[in-house]
Amino acid sequence: MSAQAPLPPNATIGIVGGGQLGRMSALAAARLGYRCHILTPEEDSPAAQVSAAATIGDYEDPTILRAFADAVDVITFEFENISAAGLELLAALKPVRPGPHVLRISQDRMAEKSFLNAEAGVATAPFALIETLDDLRAAAARLGLPAILKTTRLGYDGKGQARLAAAEDLAPAFAALAPKSLILEGFVDFAREISVIVARGGDGAVSAFDAVENRHRDHILDLTLAPAPIAPETAAAAAAIALRVADALDLVGLLAVEMFEDRDGRVLVNEIAPRPHNSGHWTIDACPASQFEMHIRAVAGLPLPPAARHSDAVMKNLVGPEEAALWPQIVATPGLIPHLYGKKEARPGRKMGHVTRLFAKGGLPGEYGIAQALGPLAAAVRTPRRCRGGN
Ligand code: AMP
Repeated sequence: MSAQAPLPPNATIGIVGGGQLGRMSALAAARLGYRCHILTPEEDSPAAQVSAAATIGDYEDPTILRAFADAVDVITFEFENISAAGLELLAALKPVRPGPHVLRISQDRMAEKSFLNAEAGVATAPFALIETLDDLRAAAARLGLPAILKTTRLGYDGKGQARLAAAEDLAPAFAALAPKSLILEGFVDFAREISVIVARGGDGAVSAFDAVENRHRDHILDLTLAPAPIAPETAAAAAAIALRVADALDLVGLLAVEMFEDRDGRVLVNEIAPRPHNSGHWTIDACPASQFEMHIRAVAGLPLPPAARHSDAVMKNLVGPEEAALWPQIVATPGLIPHLYGKKEARPGRKMGHVTRLFAKGGLPGEYGIAQALGPLAAAVRTPRRCRGGN
């Protein structure tokens, strides 16, 4: 693909989606001299609060989409639940980066896993499409139990999935998730979850952040450790996988690749997200150019600087009312870097903000030190299972 002309200062970047990823992208865009225009059905959204303009309306309404496209110079998205058809309508009117073909693949777990195996040549857990209970029985016999049954579309933060441990789990899980289209995935007994975020420009230039470790609580990202405490070969393998996937997608924009490191040190891709990602929030404070700046640079056709890291970092999400309520103590703790997303209501499971704590390079503390470094959030940090009992 040939290089695109750089977007000039004061041009307008349209962002589909009004959440915190759009908010932090818009803040990065503002620093580069761009205006952002947000498309979202939500009034007073986190992204619109910090942007020059917003269109409040339905993502699938052609009149709304045309008005939005008219008002902007280039379009990107911060979440994946707009239909690919909606994004194609936009792409007929203005450049959309990444393109609708990328969204089509990442929106559907079957398309995604098939693409990852067949086109990108990277390994995933074994999987099977499930349309009937008989399909599920046959796939469970082939892949073995435990296994994970997931909806192929619109799942996030563990929603729309069930862990199948025994034969009697099959029928109830199928009944709970059908008639949605489903996929069964072999269970990966992972040592840890990691991710790599890579930016790719229209000229094919790439810039990848170091692999990080991600720890979830109740299926929601809780903690990111940057860099991941993994062997250099594993980090290199993870980076190579992310670059292969970005190239295979012919991506222009940002891509997060979530992976498992299994007990034998092999790296398997779990899923991809063609947008800024929660596991990259640490880059705002620990890197000269954050994932959000990389995203905006790729979308705007600016050169991509190296994804260098000046510090190690721990990022802790602030999830739900209890963690959000620690705000006064958080802002009173030296060394904790606070980020709040402007959401009025702190519902359980809702990501309200995050905090970052920086360390000298090579200076990430051990488990106890990480919790202590998070001050008022120490009690909310769980020690991973593998670390209990002194292992
Ligand atoms: P997902 O929505 O696919 O990212 O899944 C949410 C979480 O469920 C992941 O972060 C993992 O902790 C777990 N998980 C998903 N798929 C698998 C799998 N095939 N094997 C083991 N754990 C999984």
